This record gives sequence, structure tokens and C-alpha cells, in this order.
Amino acid sequence: MVRRQGFRARPRVWPVAVRPFAVCYERERRSAGEGCEARGRVRSDARGRESFYASYRFPGYTFDKHVIGLVDAYRFAKVEQAKKTLAKCVDLAVKVLPDHALTREEQAARPHKDVTYTWDEFYTLPENLFIAYEIFGDERYLELAKKYLHDKPFFDPLSEGKNILPGLHAYSHVNCLSSGARAYMTLRDEKYLRAIKNAWDMLEKTQWFASGGWGPNEAFVEPGKGKLAESLTKTHNHFETPCGSYAQFKLARYLMRLTGESHYGDGLERILYNGILAALPMGPEGKTFYYSDYSANAKKNYFPDPWPCCSGTYPQVVADYLVSAYFHDDDGIYVNLFVPSEVKWKGLTITQETEYPESLTGTTLRIKGSGQCAIRLRIPGWSSRKDAGSFYTINRNWRGDEAVNFGIFEDTRALPIDDVNSKLVATMLGPLVLVQSGGKLVPFYEVQDGPYTTYHEKS
Ligand SMILES: [Zn+2]
Repeated sequence: MVRRQGFRARPRVWPVAVRPFAVCYERERRSAGEGCEARGRVRSDARGRESFYASYRFPGYTFDKHVIGLVDAYRFAKVEQAKKTLAKCVDLAVKVLPDHALTREEQAARPHKDVTYTWDEFYTLPENLFIAYEIFGDERYLELAKKYLHDKPFFDPLSEGKNILPGLHAYSHVNCLSSGARAYMTLRDEKYLRAIKNAWDMLEKTQWFASGGWGPNEAFVEPGKGKLAESLTKTHNHFETPCGSYAQFKLARYLMRLTGESHYGDGLERILYNGILAALPMGPEGKTFYYSDYSANAKKNYFPDPWPCCSGTYPQVVADYLVSAYFHDDDGIYVNLFVPSEVKWKGLTITQETEYPESLTGTTLRIKGSGQCAIRLRIPGWSSRKDAGSFYTINRNWRGDEAVNFGIFEDTRALPIDDVNSKLVATMLGPLVLVQSGGKLVPFYEVQDGPYTTYHEKS
């Protein structure tokens, strides 16, 4: 394992991201038959501070959003007050939060007002508390982060290679893996790195559709039973696209930083083109694309209600485009995404010109300036190049104006939906899923109205 300290995205322009307090209780609220009562209660209770977290259904979940919102306000928008406000939030939250991250079953076994009070979530709370500790150095954040890690039900079995994913809520648990990444980065406990690497492997081999999306009806399927194929005729809700893309972007970036391996970039790219870029654009009044539908003769639709969770993660994942394109270490630059862009590094200005993914053969890097720098290009695992699945590296002393041309070669290929239904395939070209629409094969992101069909029987 190659551990790369400081291996992180370095975009041309750092994104200024004040993350919205994403309101992700839509699924629960709808299940409970509620209107917007919960949101109103947050505002009114905010004045009665002692009762704020105590009277709310999802204190852990809400506290989590406050933590990262305030951390981002401090570090990206330079809001000094956010530091104090976060400390006050912690004072209040610790009085009412449970002694560990409770599963749904544990919440149900404890006294509760009604079933909606058993749906609290702690999945990304440790991730965000570890970040708060890194920014502010307050040991309280570190201790809380450790306390709310989902160790027993999640990270422990995953670290031992046990596939406990089937049945779990898909987006929440991919997101939860980012808490494992931060735990490893802060605590240096190899268990967490093993867990998230194993989980990625399980997801890629047993949960991913051709698009790189996962979780029909928002749940992981049981492997080896042909459940992904079965889902094509049982639901239209195959992949919670903006939330899922956001979670997969984040996890892929963590894994690239921690391992330096290129195939995590392949997974990020796949969900970029077939996930979030294939979503309908944001609509007015909180109208948002939610589920990708991979059934036959499908159509792309907006979620019926305004402001679901995906209306929060949609802009978040778009803001992440910049931080997913380039990474660096002490030696040089990693080109992860092939996008028209410019990156500056140690006196060099690298300009990327490309028509990828429409053209896989003609990407040019123009390098201005002089100095030693390794430029590493991700060669996707699907490429027919001999060095597929690695970084092609040019490490040299650059002098003045120079250019590097390179191509990634690939024909279309058929990708089976799962290991039981080897003849039910999607057509892939490079990172793109091609769907049948209007009598021809087109990239999924080109489809607006449909209908379209993703999978077909191979003759
Ligand atoms: Zn969502």
C-alpha cells in the first residue's frame, strides 16, 4: 500500500463551498405521511436552545449537518462566528445524543414517541467531526468522532471481508464509508482502510449497474441471486442519482488519496458521466432529478415533491467536479479526469485540451514553465492499452513550451448486468453507457425525454 501524505485534489480554482444544510429526511417524512412540519420545528426550536436537539426526531443527523455546515462556513467563507457556534452546538448535542451510533434496530428497542423517532442517522457524523478536529484542534471533536463510528455493525465485519451490505440503505452506507476514510486518516487504524477498500470491491463486483449506480429501491441487493436483473422489471427507482453520485465521488477521492490507485478514479468517472451528468438539470422551485431508471422504455423524470435530499447533493457534487479533476503529491500532478482545464503546480501551468469522452484518442496537455515534475495520467482499466489500470507517468525536467499528446483506445463492449444473467448486457464505450433511444445508441447523458432502454439480451 502506498500512502500518500498530502495527496489531494488541486484544482485551478479552489471551490468556495458553503455546503447547504441538506435536508435528507424526505424519504422518512413521506413514509410517515407528514408535510413540512419537521422543518418548521427546527426554526422555532432554534430559539429555545436547550430543547433544540432534544425535541427533534433526528438529533444526530441534524447535529451532523450543523457540524459540517459550520466548519465549511469557517474554512471557506471565513465566518469567524461559526467556530463559537459549533462549540455551542456541541454543548447542546452531547446532552441528548446516545452513547454510541445507534442502528435502527437499537433505536426501535429504546423508548420512543413514535416510529419516526427511531430513524436518526449517524453515518457521516464521524467524518465531519474528524474534519472539525483537524480544523479546530479541539479534542472534544476527536472523542465524539470516535464515539459515533459504526464499528460493530459495519466497519468491523467489512474489515474482515464479510459482505454485510445486502438490505442496508444504499446511499447512507456508501456515505458512511467516508467516515471510515477519515477515521483511518486521523487514527491510522488499518481496520478502517481495509473496511472501505473491501466495501468498494463488494460494491463494484456485486452492486453496480453498468452506469456505476447502485441500490434499486435504495437498498443493496443480495449477491449471486440475479437481483439487479430482477429489479429491472420490479421498480423504476434504480439509483438515487445526485446523492449516490456525491457519495461515490467522495469515497473514490478518499481511496485515491489513501492508496494512489487509479481504478478508484475509473469508478468516479463512471458515475460522473452516467450518474450526475445524465441527470435532468435542476428545475425551478426545488424540482430535482432523483432516480435513474434502467428498465426498458424508461423515461427521465423529476421527483414529484420539491426539495428532496437530492436537491441538496446535486449542487454539492457539481462543486466537486473541480476537486476530482487533479490530484498531487510531492513529485507532481495526477490527471484524474480528462476535461478542458488548467492546473498550476510548482511554476508549471498545464492546460488540458480534450474532447473526451466523445473522442478517446486526442487529449493534449500543454506545459508552460520549467522545472522537474511528474505528470501522471490515469489510464482506465477498460482501455486496450497495455498499461490499463495504472497511471502513465512522464517524470522529467520540463523546459519552456511543451506538449504531450495521448490517446486511450477502446471499442464498444458488452457488460453483463450481474453474474447470473451473463446475456443481459449494457453497451459501453469507454466510461459511457450507451442506451437505445430513437433507434440509435447514444450516451445516457444525451437522453432528455426518452424513452430509452439500457439493457438488452445479447444474441
Ligand atoms: Zn437523494
